[in-house]
Amino acid sequence: MITRTPDGVQTIAAHTPDADWQTQLREVIRDPVTLLDALGLPHSLLEGAYGGHRQFSVRVPRAYLNRMTPGDPDDPLLRQVLPLAQESDSVAGFVTDPLAEAEHTPHSGLIHKYAGRVLLIASAGCAINCRYCFRRHFPYEDHTPSMAQWQATLDYLRDDSSITEAILSGGDPLVSSDRRLAWLCRELADIPHLRRLRLHTRLPVVIPDRIDDALLEWLGTTRLQRVMVLHINHPREIDDAVRDACRRLRQAGVTLLNQSVLLRGINDDADTLAALSETLFEAGIQPYYLHVLDAVAGAAHFDVPDDEARALVAQLRARLSGFLLPRLVREVPGAVSKTPL
Ligand code: SF4
Repeated sequence: MITRTPDGVQTIAAHTPDADWQTQLREVIRDPVTLLDALGLPHSLLEGAYGGHRQFSVRVPRAYLNRMTPGDPDDPLLRQVLPLAQESDSVAGFVTDPLAEAEHTPHSGLIHKYAGRVLLIASAGCAINCRYCFRRHFPYEDHTPSMAQWQATLDYLRDDSSITEAILSGGDPLVSSDRRLAWLCRELADIPHLRRLRLHTRLPVVIPDRIDDALLEWLGTTRLQRVMVLHINHPREIDDAVRDACRRLRQAGVTLLNQSVLLRGINDDADTLAALSETLFEAGIQPYYLHVLDAVAGAAHFDVPDDEARALVAQLRARLSGFLLPRLVREVPGAVSKTPL
């Protein structure tokens, strides 16, 4: 249970390990003080945190928090979610819409950037707010489709037989209810030229209980080929619960891929990246992309220069099997695909 003190700070009762995913989602940590207190960290770390928090609020599921090391302000999982004073710095080249997505939205909730695939904004929120997220300024309020807009999106897909893949993104599509997702999945499966359903999600990592029977019912039975792209940046994000969620997904016929973002202070060394690839593969997840940071305002302190990124991947190439090596890429606005570095 979560309650609030008069000054808005959460107090959280001990985590109930068997709480369902909806309860865990409702009870995510939503302010920097609660986050620091839960890890026994000093309030001096709050200096500047509220500037970032006001831009893009703190959200941390308890199941993810439990993998952080208490007392360590440099914990690589904490660094992904704790706002820092640097987020308020204005840095040349770092903008609110780094991928120019506003230019590729035929209508609300739909982004059509690449040939053959469309991206559907299936949810306006996430279970976790990652400080480096390229959509941290995305106007979700303009992209939360009504039922009529969903019908318009489905008509758009029906009318374009070159589209073979529908990508559910967000936010995180898996914060939506299984009832809504099952409906959407049925509608998509009824479009004859669609072959694949791809989901981009962090839920199986941050709240592994999300992979429950209700989800596997619709995801495991559709005629569409299913691909789930997870988003894991550090090997410590993968614990036994995540491994179990991945096992259930694979048993349901879902192909699991991972994309990471190269992040200063979190995974910008060859040892961590090599361990990440090994840990992913052991969990049945194929390392897929290593993205350089999208130049989003508020995240410049995570940036790793291209030359350093290439040198890191060269070190990985020398020590990993080829199938464990993610492709180093950048998203370039207007490009017909991701751009290899
Ligand atoms: S869209 Fe993905 S990266 Fe961005 S905040 Fe949500 S979970 Fe994190």
